[in-house]
Amino acid sequence: MATYPSDIEEIPGFMDWFVGEPAASRGEPAESVEVHGFGCSFSRSLTEEERAEVLDFLRSHVDPYKEYRLIGTLSLPLAEISMERIDEIRTVARGIEVAGGHGGRWLSLESRVILCFGTRREAAEKKLETLGPRVYGRRIVDSDGECLLIGQLQIPLREDLGTSAEVERYIALARKEIGDDEFEAPPRFLAELSMLFDERAAAEAMRPRFGAIGLGTKVVEEIHKMVRSTVVAWQQAWLVTSGRVEELMRPGVLSTAGFLGEAERLGDVLKEDASTLAALGVTPADVAGRIREIVRAALGSRKREWEEGGDVIGRFRVRLRHWGGYQRCPWLCTSNTAWGSFDFMIENRRTGAKLEGPGLIVHLIAEHGFFEGKESPYRVDPRHAAEVLGLPRTFWDRLLRR
Ligand SMILES: [Zn+2]
Repeated sequence: MATYPSDIEEIPGFMDWFVGEPAASRGEPAESVEVHGFGCSFSRSLTEEERAEVLDFLRSHVDPYKEYRLIGTLSLPLAEISMERIDEIRTVARGIEVAGGHGGRWLSLESRVILCFGTRREAAEKKLETLGPRVYGRRIVDSDGECLLIGQLQIPLREDLGTSAEVERYIALARKEIGDDEFEAPPRFLAELSMLFDERAAAEAMRPRFGAIGLGTKVVEEIHKMVRSTVVAWQQAWLVTSGRVEELMRPGVLSTAGFLGEAERLGDVLKEDASTLAALGVTPADVAGRIREIVRAALGSRKREWEEGGDVIGRFRVRLRHWGGYQRCPWLCTSNTAWGSFDFMIENRRTGAKLEGPGLIVHLIAEHGFFEGKESPYRVDPRHAAEVLGLPRTFWDRLLRR
């Protein structure tokens, strides 16, 4: 349950929802609430009405996605774990799966190891570095003033994944890897058998079967992961319509590098670039149109890629680098995805000056007058762009179609 702000996963930006990962360093939220186990923390920039709107949306969308996880755990010192005990759990897990008709989904069986270092964080960090591939997904957690090193054991616990002899060998290898460093308590082995149900009653009904093999049991309410994408899509659209598109432009939200730096203001960037261009006697449409014209010719020829020198288009040389995915416009326009999936480099053959940028910039400049923030690696500086592209075009340029 998300009781503390630190339990709530944040989406970088001003408004942070979801339970799970640790909070990013965006300062204290104005309010943290829980909607059916779904964390939601509000920044100070939201009004009361806006918070109410967000909560209404969450309440109406979280309910249908509720599910119940039955968890059975076995915890004992790693040295005491026996193959008989593991086999007992595997057999029951297999039996549940084979029987079917139990109303549950996604039965999973995992094992972890916990190394306790007391207050010796340094020792835990040292151990973290030296552990080999038998223990993966490892991390250090602080629990009641104690420093614990937790890792997943790469042991094929499911019956269909490995024989008892194989599991035994894996355990021996894991024990060897963990070694006998100085721990505050013997390394613990934790096996977890878990299963998802749509109804709490169905999870409770299965509980005795987990209990019968000596597992500690509990039923936890969860929200299906799918709700996340629904909420994120709604949140993004809401940010645009409520005039907060800036939040979508920060690094790590729609793109890793971001359209704006952490502290840059969209209004300032737009204003400054507009006046730079105006002073040159160039419009955003001129810049976008010129890039579009040159790049389109290169796209049409499809001759060569970036590494091979590119295409000569009039007085320019153009190189394109295509990517697998595509970048969406932060205003969420239904834009042409083809232009969001490549970067270009236009070289003025006469001066040797080069202009690099993403294909999406044509849309951003033409529709939004946006050249990206000064801290963005994808920024196309308007003054430099005009210089490379030969803008404004003279009467003779137009006449000679240069
Ligand atoms: Zn757009």
